[in-house]
Amino acid sequence: MKFEVTILGSSSATPVFNRNPSAQLLNCNEKYYLIDCGEGTQQQLTKYNLKAARIDHIFISHLHGDHYFGLIGLLSSLHLNGRIKPMHIFGPKPLLEILEIQFKYSDTVLRYPIEFTPIEADESRHIFSNQDLDVKTIVLNHRIPTTGFVFEQKPRQRKLVKEKTDEIPMAYYAALKKGIDVEQPDGTILKSGDYTTPADAPRSYAYCSDTMYDERYFETIKGCDTLYHEATFMHELLDRANETHHTTAKQAGEIARDNGITKLLIGHFSSRYKTLQMLLEEAQSVFENTELAVEGRTFQL
Ligand SMILES: [Zn+2]
Ligand SMILES: [Zn+2]
Repeated sequence: MKFEVTILGSSSATPVFNRNPSAQLLNCNEKYYLIDCGEGTQQQLTKYNLKAARIDHIFISHLHGDHYFGLIGLLSSLHLNGRIKPMHIFGPKPLLEILEIQFKYSDTVLRYPIEFTPIEADESRHIFSNQDLDVKTIVLNHRIPTTGFVFEQKPRQRKLVKEKTDEIPMAYYAALKKGIDVEQPDGTILKSGDYTTPADAPRSYAYCSDTMYDERYFETIKGCDTLYHEATFMHELLDRANETHHTTAKQAGEIARDNGITKLLIGHFSSRYKTLQMLLEEAQSVFENTELAVEGRTFQL
């Protein structure tokens, strides 16, 4: 099952040096989930050949503009392009009011419904579930209420061993994949364990947008396979990071190291850094398996 994320924006605050504000597209089993929607997200989707019409769920971490100024444009374009299926949006409560007022004064009546789920940033909550995924919030420590998100695959099914299942009716496959033994009409039993191998372990992706280092949210991200964490500054600017409620690259490495993470992606880079190699090296000095979450890169989760 596909479980991957494509980075659409890696910049904090403003678009600079060909870097866009925050947005990522998660593909889970060929369903698209948009995580944050900074200015320019529509063009980024087009650039990387990702069809906006396929997005049915949008998760907004907080109401700083670099995380949602692209949303009204995206929603308007979908309307103009004839969308009728609902769009599910998860975000801070005032976001709905912000959207509604923009639609009101542009005299826009959307052709499709917005199903809005307000998110509180007081405790980690389970906010979404379907056949592929569970999503829960991460309470971050930023200047305004902010949550990250953990996307966790549902438990997977056992895998058929093709050479062994070729001779048995396909009607039995579903039960065998669920681990159920099947009795045939002649009374013989087909044991699931004889025809299948164990399922792959469900994988998880934690998205920590804007936050300062704060041990209170570590519990929620512990043991995730991949962690995206903001790393706005080099550690020499720790005071500035604390003042603005952001994280340094070194701290991002420490958070990955101390929470059983397998792979770390860093992003949300300050416009003061024209190149990013030193931020990468600083994080890697603490946690080697770190990569830059920059525009156009796709990571298998
Ligand atoms: Zn930001
Ligand atoms: Zn912010």
